[in-house]
Amino acid sequence: MKTFSVKELLSPDHLHQEVTVNGWVKTYRSNRFIALNDGSTINNIQCVVDFEEYDENLLKQINTGAALKISGTLVESQGKGQSVEIQVKEIKVHGGADPEVYPIQPKKHSLEFLREKAHLRVRTNTFAAIMRVRSALSFAVHQYFQKNGFFYVHTPIITGSDAEGAGEMFRVSTLDNKKPPLTEDGEIDYREDFFGKETNLTVSGQLEAETYAMGLGKVYTFGPTFRAENSNTSRHLAEFWMIEPEVAFNDLDANMDLAEDFIKEVINYALENCKEDLQFLEQRLLDEEKSKPQAERSEMPLIEKLKFVSDNTFKRVTYTEAIDILRNSKPNKKKQFKYLIDEWGADLQSEHERFLVEKHFKCPVILFDYPAKIKAFYMRLNEDGKTVRAMDILFPGIGEIVGGSQREERLDILLEKIKALGIDEKELWWYLDLRKFGTAVHSGFGLGFERLVLFATGMGNIRDVIPFPRTPQNAEF
Ligand code: ATP
Ligand code: MG
Ligand code: MG
Ligand code: MG
Repeated sequence: MKTFSVKELLSPDHLHQEVTVNGWVKTYRSNRFIALNDGSTINNIQCVVDFEEYDENLLKQINTGAALKISGTLVESQGKGQSVEIQVKEIKVHGGADPEVYPIQPKKHSLEFLREKAHLRVRTNTFAAIMRVRSALSFAVHQYFQKNGFFYVHTPIITGSDAEGAGEMFRVSTLDNKKPPLTEDGEIDYREDFFGKETNLTVSGQLEAETYAMGLGKVYTFGPTFRAENSNTSRHLAEFWMIEPEVAFNDLDANMDLAEDFIKEVINYALENCKEDLQFLEQRLLDEEKSKPQAERSEMPLIEKLKFVSDNTFKRVTYTEAIDILRNSKPNKKKQFKYLIDEWGADLQSEHERFLVEKHFKCPVILFDYPAKIKAFYMRLNEDGKTVRAMDILFPGIGEIVGGSQREERLDILLEKIKALGIDEKELWWYLDLRKFGTAVHSGFGLGFERLVLFATGMGNIRDVIPFPRTPQNAEF
């Protein structure tokens, strides 16, 4: 008997065939029905069993969570909600799951509870759906770039450069932490780092991606990124995946076009290829909303929200225009912003970003031309001498999803900025070489993959869209 996945069996192709399927028991009821799922789809295959024909010892092991191999005939189902079912002829138990101790029971578990069970939570419908959407999106990322002539560059994880200011770094060390070598002053002797050189885990592959763009033209990197974010927000992880395209001869406008087109296309991919999972996640949200006060309910169901983003033009606004809007608005009748914008040049707080996106424009916003002093040294200075060609893309419910810029291609200006910041230019000799030899306008952006998955799945906490979240106090396995 041929073995099929549950997804294959649920398509009409195998009706009346003798089939075998493996999976985990989702539910079983009235001693007649087993709902089996193998992770291939959100839907279960119903297995109809004549329990009287089986040994009691075997039946005892058929509990939620048990892994089974089931063989039988695939027939049309009379039951509601499914088109086919298996008339079971043979059951083999791969492994049981004692209901006294197996934590994933067929009831609704809180997301907090499931975070404690990160090794088992993919057995729930919610996490399986999220992880399938995550997988589809990551395929769509590669597909988009490969289709559009980009080359995938593997930028290093261990790096001596730190994309100055991108985030707090984790140091890489060959030290024996229990007995670190000490200097004469009793400080840890970091010369032992990476065989004598100070290194850290990458906070961004940008500088290296730039290097490769200035030779391959259009490149992207998509890999793990590390920031020692010692805080507990629902948008930050200490280890996340970042998508960073970089394009030679592209200015900021072309960079904004690329980012917008890219986001729309990957979201469309999910809409087309993850229909059932998105429907499930949408229904989950709708159920959750019922218990919320009206004012906190989201205005659009998930799928409509994704379609809205992929069908509508993102609003492009300069930082200066945004500040004017914020100065002249109050978030609601009584309240001022908690963080006031009283000075041009201040960085925006997330409450400002959310106001612009969710209340004022009611669509994704690309903010650009930020004050130079709140952005990184490598961003292209505008002719006004005050602002840089930087852009952030802000998303409803998420806040910043993309940060990008046109890079400073002029050696003299880049050097001036580096000096003003007190950065040792010797450390960046290789980066400066790119401006000495065949420099050109170029630009790129970084998109946090988990923030994209958050948006696409409608989840509220970034810990729930990555298999093993790394946050302070959370690195058990
Ligand atoms: P934020 O303001 O949210 O801290 P950032 O401005 O520090 O983000 P960038 O350096 O611009 O982040 O990085 C590019 C993108 O990477 C961000 O727009 C965001 O989508 C994502 N990102 C940044 N930090 C994290 C993090 N700690 N966890 C998950 N994603 C992140
Ligand atoms: Mg940050
Ligand atoms: Mg930011
Ligand atoms: Mg940013």
